[in-house]
Amino acid sequence: MTTLTRRIGSAQLEVIVADITTLGVDAIVNAANTSLLGGGGVDGAIHRAAGPELVAECRTLHGCKTGDAKITKGYRLKAAHVIHTVGPVWNGGTHGEDDLLASCYRRAIELCREHKLTSVAFPAISTGVYRFPAERAAEIAVRTTIEMLPLAPSVARVVFCCFSEPSAKLHAEALVRHSGPC
Ligand code: ADP
Repeated sequence: MTTLTRRIGSAQLEVIVADITTLGVDAIVNAANTSLLGGGGVDGAIHRAAGPELVAECRTLHGCKTGDAKITKGYRLKAAHVIHTVGPVWNGGTHGEDDLLASCYRRAIELCREHKLTSVAFPAISTGVYRFPAERAAEIAVRTTIEMLPLAPSVARVVFCCFSEPSAKLHAEALVRHSGPC
């Protein structure tokens, strides 16, 4: 199974294959939809594991724009917080999809900085029902996260929590490309 750990500056970046709802980090990121009221995929799994208090708090947020992010508590999750972000639906790549996906990672890490969080785990945003090509998404995820780290000194650990071996391989390859062979 592909797992990889790289140190970049003072932060540790990891690629793992896991169910993100099981991770004991300061925040897990949710690939939500604009309603923030729950859905399928990782969104459904996070809401199921967090319990009904999560959707109750989400109702107070009045949705979220594509490329933006909002933070809630984690309720019954091990993670203290959930950062809800809305990835773009893939529509051929000429509708700003790359920039919107990068914005999800940027806004999530900005929230980590604002809330002084030290560890955060990302799913492969938009690569499920939103159909963003997995390799292109992994490159954007890793590159944007690394670009943001100097701006978010509280963040000491970033986990790319993949849900399949092929997804983990793509993230590991991107992390090696951006951090050197060892
Ligand atoms: P989107 O609508 O942004 O495409 P999905 O939830 O459909 O969101 O998929 C996003 C990614 O999350 C996919 O790679 C999917 O395999 C993955 N995923 C689904 N469930 C989980 C989970 N429990 N933990 C981590 N990743 C998950």
